[in-house]
Amino acid sequence: MTLKAWTPSELRSLRKRATAWYDSFGRDLPWRRTRDPYAIWISEIMLQQTQVATVIPYYERFLKSFPTVGSLANAPLDQVLQHWAGLGYYRRARQLHSAAQRIEKECAGIFPTDWQTVHALPGIGRYTAGAILSFATDQRLPIVEANTQRLYARLLHLDDDLSMQSAQSALWQFAESVLPTRHGSGHVNQALMEIGSQICLPKEPACLICPLRPLCPTFKSGLQARIPRPKQKKSYTDLQEAVLLIHDREHRWLMRRSSERERWAGLWDFPRFDITHCESELLVRSNLKQQFENAYECAIEIGEVMHQLKHAVTRYRILLLSFRAHLYGTRKRSRFGKMETQWVSESQLDQIALCASAKKVWQWLKRQH
Ligand code: SF4
Repeated sequence: MTLKAWTPSELRSLRKRATAWYDSFGRDLPWRRTRDPYAIWISEIMLQQTQVATVIPYYERFLKSFPTVGSLANAPLDQVLQHWAGLGYYRRARQLHSAAQRIEKECAGIFPTDWQTVHALPGIGRYTAGAILSFATDQRLPIVEANTQRLYARLLHLDDDLSMQSAQSALWQFAESVLPTRHGSGHVNQALMEIGSQICLPKEPACLICPLRPLCPTFKSGLQARIPRPKQKKSYTDLQEAVLLIHDREHRWLMRRSSERERWAGLWDFPRFDITHCESELLVRSNLKQQFENAYECAIEIGEVMHQLKHAVTRYRILLLSFRAHLYGTRKRSRFGKMETQWVSESQLDQIALCASAKKVWQWLKRQH
């Protein structure tokens, strides 16, 4: 199968059709009403792995609390994570915070507008740098993300595995060739992203209402189901974890902050342990007791399982069991081994940045009262 070679006049027609359709049918989204690179950056990071409808209230709340690079850079990380709680992939929030601190320090708090500097910031890859700068400052920078990748593969009639280097370079070259030489690149990029996300859908592309249909080789060949090639199915690893629900006499719960090496680095959680390889409930209890006493340097009694929930994180499917537990001799004690812990009152538990599964456990606990 040969790739479609686009002539300059076809590319002109593609741009014209795409932008005319976008001007009439593009969605009115809050980050499309601004040319502020800072606000566009926040939206782009939030939109990674997250649906538009979910992002909108987070985006608005985030910008209200942190309206400038400086306000984000100077905010405590905990407060930033709290605004992120529920969006998942917390690494994005930590990188956002550290990038803001770098901009504050090295660029006097003004979001940079040259590609090299933006691309070198934590958490900003080739796509994100291109998106921010083409949308905010109309620089001629190509973008390829999930939606445009699928659209461009179909516009090129590219029937390869898209993870291959050769396929990626064909996509990026095409993404560059569609951009006008003078001005309007941001507009064209936005229009094509919108067609990718609203019309050229993965399973059933709406070819009959697609403005690009007269130019599209995949529509002509009828190979929409084959291009792009379906990704290989994700394979999951099953894990079993336990959290310990421990409270003191004032009904404050023992919480610990996840360390840098953990999945939810920086977020608060109940004491949590991996119990994947424990085969019986008896083994689980003795294993939990041992793991807790080693890490927290404190004697504990493990009670019954109170709750269980299933959740998935990246490639893991996790069964999480919540055990009631009781500590010995801990009145007034706040240090537990090398762990960063605190006793948290029930009203504070609604305020601190909990990881998503701890939040679910806490919601469940609240309903038991
Ligand atoms: S005609 Fe169909 S396959 Fe081609 S770009 Fe439009 S929606 Fe996608």
